[in-house]
Formats: sequence, C-alpha cells, structure tokens
Amino acid sequence: MIDRPVAIPQSVPHFLRSLRSLVLVILDRHGALIDANQGLYDLLPSAGPGDPQLSVDNVFLNPTVEELLARADGQYDALIYTGLVTLGDIDGDSESWIGHAYCRESWILVVCERDVQQERQLRRQLLQLTEEYAEQERELARTNRELTYYANEAKRLSLTDPLTGLPNRRSFDQLMQHHAKLARRHGDSLTILLMDLDRFKAINDRHGHQHGDQVLRDVAAVLTERVRAGDVLSRWGGEEFTVLAPKTGHAEGVKLAERLRLAIEAIPHAEGHLPVTISIGVAERRNEESTEDFLARADAALYQAKDMGRNRTISAEPIE
Ligand code: GH3
Ligand code: MG
Ligand code: MG
Repeated sequence: MIDRPVAIPQSVPHFLRSLRSLVLVILDRHGALIDANQGLYDLLPSAGPGDPQLSVDNVFLNPTVEELLARADGQYDALIYTGLVTLGDIDGDSESWIGHAYCRESWILVVCERDVQQERQLRRQLLQLTEEYAEQERELARTNRELTYYANEAKRLSLTDPLTGLPNRRSFDQLMQHHAKLARRHGDSLTILLMDLDRFKAINDRHGHQHGDQVLRDVAAVLTERVRAGDVLSRWGGEEFTVLAPKTGHAEGVKLAERLRLAIEAIPHAEGHLPVTISIGVAERRNEESTEDFLARADAALYQAKDMGRNRTISAEPIE
C-alpha cells in the first residue's frame, strides 16, 4: 500500500479547524492562502478567517513561502519539507514549530505541530526557576526575620546594663522624657529617687572588684523586688541607681525610698565584710521644671544625705 495522505479537499476539514496546537495551511501553487485553521490565526492576533489582507509571506519566516514554492517546483505528489518551521510575525514574536509540507497538483499543505520537546524542556526550566524563586523568597523571609531579631536585640542591648540587666542610663534618659511628658500632659505628679551606694570604693578596695560586681547585682535584685509595679528602676551609673515613680508625690516617694534603703541595709553580709548601705535623694517634679533642674534637685538631696552621714533618705521638698 502506498503511504500517502488522504486527498485533502481544498479547505481545512471542519473537525481540524478549531485546533490550536496544530497549524494547518493550504496554499495554492503561487503561494496564496487558500485556507487555514485557528492555529494560524492565533499567531496573528489582528487577522481572522477570510481576512483579505492576510499574507502568509509574513507568517512563514523559515522556511519562507518562496522556499516552499521552489521545493514544490516540478513536484505533484511529494513531501517537500520536513523539519523546524519558524512561524510568527516578522515584526513581533516568532515561535518554533515542527512541520511538514506536502504538495499536490494544485495545492501545498503545511502542517505544523508545537515543538513538544522544547516545550517540555521549557516547562521543566520554568518549574525549576519557580522552585528556585520560592527558595529565595523563603531565604529572604528568613534573613528578614533574622535582621529584625538582631535589630531588636541591638536595641535591647543598647538600653540594658550588662552587669545587672536593668535599664541603663541611656534608657533612663528616654524613660525620664516619656514620663515627664505624661506627667505634664495629665497633671500627674512624678517623683524620682536618686540612690548611691555608700563607700562603695572601700568595698571594692577591701574585697575586690568581683565582689563589688556581685554586690551591685544583689542590690539590683533587691531593688527590683521592692519597687512597685509602674515604678521604673535603672542603673544610672557605677554604683548609682534611680527609681522614677509616676503618679507619686514626694511623701509617698520618701516612704518608698525608706523601704528600699532598709531592704539594702538588710542584705546579709559575711563576717568581716563591709555592710552595704545606700543614700537616697528624693525630689518631686515641679510644674514647668526642666528634667535637668528636676534631677539636679534630687542630686542635691542625695549629696545632703551623704553629707549628713550616709545610709539615709533626704527629700528635696519642704516637709509638710
Ligand atoms: P560615697 O559614699 O561618697 O558614694 O563613696 P563611694 O566610695 O561609693 O564613691 P566613689 O565615687 O568614691 O566610688 C565609687 C566606686 O564605685 C568607685 C568605682 O570603682 C566603683 N564602681 C563603679 N562602677 C563599678 C562596677 O561596675 N563594678 C565595681 N565593682 N565597682 C564599680
Ligand atoms: Mg557615686
Ligand atoms: Mg557611692
């Protein structure tokens, strides 16, 4: 039996018309379009079936219509081309197809199918790229989480005293501004306790710096335990601590100071070790007073407490 295509009528059979992954084109022996299926019109979004303007010269980029006609020359029942076919728009996108061209006496039939191998490879590449992209997105999210963590951690460390874990001086300054503003806005009282360990240099000198460090940690722990909820305890500097007491007047502040002072005094110490005591200056913020003046008055009260023999609380405010 001779292997030849069934005689194709000079139009694309109806059942092949709507196929889009096949391009079927029937040309006459001069290269003019006789008929085509949807696959061809998809390549030319501006053209449609029966478009008189449609010229296949602009669709067959390789081989060209001219080349197909040359191959068909003198042939009346032959496969004239098989292989890669580049179809598309000469000024726009083009696509690689796999095709066959066959000629009979009065027509040339070109049948192209999508390059399945190439598409499969493209799909694989796309899948791989998508996976890589997803992995990079995950990596980016991880890095962002780490950055946020380290940024928060850096901020926390910059505001924390490493020895005692209390808010440090920098943090205190911010907290002071914050609470002074709140007190001003709401007309609330705000009291500060400025505390300084007594003769701490002697403790260091007698028992060593490491012991001194331990005393500072013990004092911080005792103060943390005794301040009230809402009070803000900080390590202000070397052996100095502060308590900011919002919504607290100086009388209440003095009571708090005395409780703290007695708690420090009660810290047990080994025989032969110097006792730990603290002196405290208390001041209540005055209306329209700057934080510098407010602190200076507490500092003066503390200085007075030292001057009067230490281990005592002195208020900067007149006694009522
Ligand atoms: P006063 O009662 O007048 O306050 O006497 P003082 O000895 O406490 O005061 P002075 O300012 O003379 O000495 C403070 C000492 O605190 C000196 C310094 O070495 C010590 N100090 C400051 N920071 C630290 C610290 O982090 N660890 C230890 N171990 N000592 C510290
Ligand atoms: Mg001091
Ligand atoms: Mg001191």
